[in-house]
Amino acid sequence: MRHLTAGQHALLETALQQQLQQLDRRLAEHLGGATRAEHARSVLLQDSDDAPQREAERELDQALGDRDTVALGTLSAALARLRDTEAGRYGLCADCDAEIPFDRLRVEPWALRCVPCQTAQEAGQRA
Ligand SMILES: [Zn+2]
Repeated sequence: MRHLTAGQHALLETALQQQLQQLDRRLAEHLGGATRAEHARSVLLQDSDDAPQREAERELDQALGDRDTVALGTLSAALARLRDTEAGRYGLCADCDAEIPFDRLRVEPWALRCVPCQTAQEAGQRA
């Protein structure tokens, strides 16, 4: 991260920590919400035939939980890279070693790739 100043480094570390904390709170709320939904389902179970709708809601809960879990891993990994000043991999593109500009890192502090490589990666995933 030679292209990042100490001030930029500190700012990105703070941003990652804040996003991790927000995600932690959201996951906690999500788990609480699932418990409430579970209770509501058990109450409604015997007097309605909207099982397909409840199933869809359950799958939505599951998808949200999975996405947040993935985000938690992504943010944690970014914070670990940022703090590993010895390896110095933070802010360098995983594919081509280009320096990821601070302006991009400020928006996506977990970014692993420069914009051209990220675009290529996403195009490959869609193909
Ligand atoms: Zn790249």
